[in-house]
Amino acid sequence: MYTDSHCHLNRLDLTAHDGKLDGVIEAMKQASVSRAMAIMCDFAEYDEIYDIITKFGDEQLNLGMSVGIHPCEDLEVLKSATVERLVETASPDHVWAIGETGLDYYWSDENKQEQKASLARHIAASQQLKKPLVVHTREAKHDTIDILKAEKAEHGIIHCFTEDWDTAKKALDLGFYISFSGIVSFKNAQSLRDAALKVPRDRLLIETDSPYLAPVPKRGKSNEPAYVPYVATCLGDLFGISSEEVGRLTTKNFEDLLAQA
Ligand SMILES: [Zn+2]
Repeated sequence: MYTDSHCHLNRLDLTAHDGKLDGVIEAMKQASVSRAMAIMCDFAEYDEIYDIITKFGDEQLNLGMSVGIHPCEDLEVLKSATVERLVETASPDHVWAIGETGLDYYWSDENKQEQKASLARHIAASQQLKKPLVVHTREAKHDTIDILKAEKAEHGIIHCFTEDWDTAKKALDLGFYISFSGIVSFKNAQSLRDAALKVPRDRLLIETDSPYLAPVPKRGKSNEPAYVPYVATCLGDLFGISSEEVGRLTTKNFEDLLAQA
């Protein structure tokens, strides 16, 4: 069994599945993916994601969603995420986490102040609801760690981890889980694999971040949650354990994360 801790189910390229999400879901079941968290980046996506998880979630495939605003969204969208609105929207049980939020100075560095303020508001919502935070960070590791520390964030995921071991260590010390995407399987990602080896096995998660970043051997193709076992295979090769074992332990870790109050 496998858990995809981060996928954008409403943004997938459905060309390979006759334009229907049914094929994506079927492929997940075939690949023994038993759980997935669909990630929201803008309030405008809420209904679409909610419809998907309620239509396709069942006993074999446990689907939930996050609620949050991505740091690369426009200023107006970033500002729309007040603590009150986040808490209200994220209260129902089908919302498992708050995010994705975070800091991204690679794609947009004009909105630094607003990105930081938005991250702080997401942290407040996460603390009020006792639901984990989903953090995106790109070219902003110092500010990200500083804000998590200052706001006393200690429950969440650093998603699609691509930073160095020092940053992983700081996030782990705060209590965060580290989630690896297909990037860890890329040829040039040796330093990332070195960092992955040092992450305690009970704090590891795996994700596709689909439709982005398809893992080897699907690199360059449109990604989908059914490919999450490839990320597990890569980590399993690294650790000297099976892909299934990585699937089991990361599924348990995800359950522990959600249960953590
Ligand atoms: Zn994402």
